Amino acid sequence: VMASMAHLQKEKLRLQEELLELQEKFAARENDKLSLSLQLQDQVETLKEKLLEQAQEISRLRSELGGTDAEKHRDLLAAENERLRQEMKACEGELRELRRQQQAPCRDCPHLQENAGLQEQLSQLQREAEETRAKLVELDLEVQQKTNRLAEVELRLKDSLAERAEEEERLSRRLRDSQETIASLKSQPQQIKYIIKTVEVESTKAKQALCETQSRNQYLQEQVGMQKQVLKEMEQQLQSSQKTEAQLRAQIMMYEAELERAHGQMLEEMQAMEEEKNRAIEEAFSRAQVEMKAVHENLAGVRTNLLTLQPALRTLTHDYNSLKRQVRDFPLLLQETLRSARAEISQAIEEVHSTNRELLRKYRRELQLRKKCHNELVRLKGNIRVFGRVRPITKEDGEGPEAANAVTFDADDDAVLYLLHKGKQVSFELDKVFPPQASQEEVFQEVQALVTSCIDGYNVCIFAYGQTGAGKTYTMEGTAANPGINQRALQLLFSEVRGKAADWDYTITVSAAEIYNEALRDLLGKEPQEKLEIKLCPDGSGQLYVPGLTEFRVQSVEDINKVFEFGHVKRVTECTNLNEHSSRSHALLIVTVRGLDRSTGLRTTGKLNLVDLAGSERVGRSGAEGSRLREAQHINKSLSALGDVIYALRSRQGHVPFRNSKLTYLLQDSLSGDSKTLMMVQVSPAEKNTSETLCSLKFAERVRSVELGPVSRKAELGSWPSQEHLEGDSPGSAAPPGRGHASPSPGQLSSRSASIRRKLHTSG
Ligand code: ADP
Ligand code: MG
Repeated sequence: VMASMAHLQKEKLRLQEELLELQEKFAARENDKLSLSLQLQDQVETLKEKLLEQAQEISRLRSELGGTDAEKHRDLLAAENERLRQEMKACEGELRELRRQQQAPCRDCPHLQENAGLQEQLSQLQREAEETRAKLVELDLEVQQKTNRLAEVELRLKDSLAERAEEEERLSRRLRDSQETIASLKSQPQQIKYIIKTVEVESTKAKQALCETQSRNQYLQEQVGMQKQVLKEMEQQLQSSQKTEAQLRAQIMMYEAELERAHGQMLEEMQAMEEEKNRAIEEAFSRAQVEMKAVHENLAGVRTNLLTLQPALRTLTHDYNSLKRQVRDFPLLLQETLRSARAEISQAIEEVHSTNRELLRKYRRELQLRKKCHNELVRLKGNIRVFGRVRPITKEDGEGPEAANAVTFDADDDAVLYLLHKGKQVSFELDKVFPPQASQEEVFQEVQALVTSCIDGYNVCIFAYGQTGAGKTYTMEGTAANPGINQRALQLLFSEVRGKAADWDYTITVSAAEIYNEALRDLLGKEPQEKLEIKLCPDGSGQLYVPGLTEFRVQSVEDINKVFEFGHVKRVTECTNLNEHSSRSHALLIVTVRGLDRSTGLRTTGKLNLVDLAGSERVGRSGAEGSRLREAQHINKSLSALGDVIYALRSRQGHVPFRNSKLTYLLQDSLSGDSKTLMMVQVSPAEKNTSETLCSLKFAERVRSVELGPVSRKAELGSWPSQEHLEGDSPGSAAPPGRGHASPSPGQLSSRSASIRRKLHTSG
């Protein structure tokens, strides 16, 4: 019902708007009419002026012509004019009335009334024009009569002139007779004298009379002249009045035409407006009818709805009343509930707090325990592990017996490898051996535990050791399609860090450096030629740092690739022969993982050092000279120093000779303490490389054969064998001469560590 009511209301509003629009249209039309009537009034005004002029002209004519019959006519005309003027005034009054009516609100179709009034006015004006025309005709007639009369006057004047001429003639004749009589009388003396006297008297009288007659004659002639003059002027006036009359007539015609036109226009407009109005009214009416019908229908529907809704309304009212009651009671209920809920919640919070505290305590304890276990495990496992990796035979190895395979493996033990050297098979046992077919993925699987321990705050070193071409760079860097440990380690770090992101904030930064001829250089810095120094931290922590070493923060694999690319480009532009250069320098990738446990505030810093060492091949002392010799000496020295340090660490010596080379000095904090080290010894299986392979494997075995424990710690051991020593060693008798009695034999050592490793393996 409400919806239909609202709809009806809307419809009503719409209709009202339409009505308003129509009213506006009507108002516009009224304005048009007003302007039209104003125009008409102007025309009437001008007509009036012209009529006034005409009247003045007529009065002027009348004053000039004097009081004749024509004058009477003119008087009549003037009266007529006066009447016309009054009519005009009446017209004006009507017009004013009309305008007033127009200004008044439109009621009972005022256009029609107005139209009728205007038409009436028009007809009146037409009638007046007709009358004026008739009057003009009359005036014409009068003028004709006047001319006739003038002609008569002229004739009369002529007659009187003729009479005067006759009189003169008569008088002159009498004069002549008298003179004759005088002459005859003169001849009769006395009588004659008397007569003459009388005659003389008479003649003077006659002369006097003549004179009088002559003067009168003159006067008459003057009179005639004057009359002629007046006549001429009158003729002229008549002509001018005729002209004015013609002009007036033309003007009247013009006005009539204009009036006709205006009337026609007005009629047309009125008709158009009328039509439009009728149309609008019809439309509105039909629309209103349709709407009314719809409304009626709606109303009927609404009524039936109302009838059906009434019971529903009753139930609703009932419901509403009950709801109202409920709502009235609701705040109290709510307060009650809120109070109890609050109490419950605070209790729950308290409980959660205490549980949290307990959990945190337990967590911290567990963390410590884990670290302890880890350290124990590391201690048992040895924190220095040695892996071997044999690369496949490649095209570069050539063909023939030189390129024959000299390395074989034990099918049951993945820690053993056999090398055929000079016809003898020598066996080596490492922590793990990767055969040529081992993939990068497999290699990394063995390494990843070390990498992740970096997140827990441990320092890790992974070295690739071996002769040039044995696969060090392949293992560390790999190829674009098959990346090595470097990239995989960083990827693993990213994913691990992401997994712990809920509790920990981690930042991972990378630096890349190179040690060549005992000089440390930044591979990511702006000045790669600059030699960097390793310095002790001024904070007294005993930590080392490299001032000026560039660190890049990395967050994605793309970032790592950019950093590697950058470092590689630097290295390529710096060296004329990168392969040679890289085989004689140590390349370091230093990844630092800094973490913050948001809940405990615990901070960890772990460093992962990924080192691609210089080629371990021995340079014949005789052949090498100058820079090549110097390089070889440096490499020899640093690799020996690395061996020394690892040896010293494994045998828990009091003094670890870190400072003997830049490499060990730089990695000091990543090699000591509970740090973890992995030595990946790379070997070539080719027959021609067996002697270098032998050396490398000996080095590997020695690194891992150093036993941990109180006995070896106590033992006073000599220095790690130098490269020269290794060179001189024969397979199977690898014990360095300086190691003395305290050192167990390699065989014993390897079997013991292997048993430990196996134990760990089986215990998981
Ligand atoms: P290094 O860095 O020790 O001098 P490289 O890593 O440059 O040696 O390896 C020498 C060649 O042997 C390269 O062409 C490399 O692709 C190839 N190579 C090394 N190890 C492997 C392997 N495990 N699988 C396939 N190719 C290898
Ligand atoms: Mg290399």
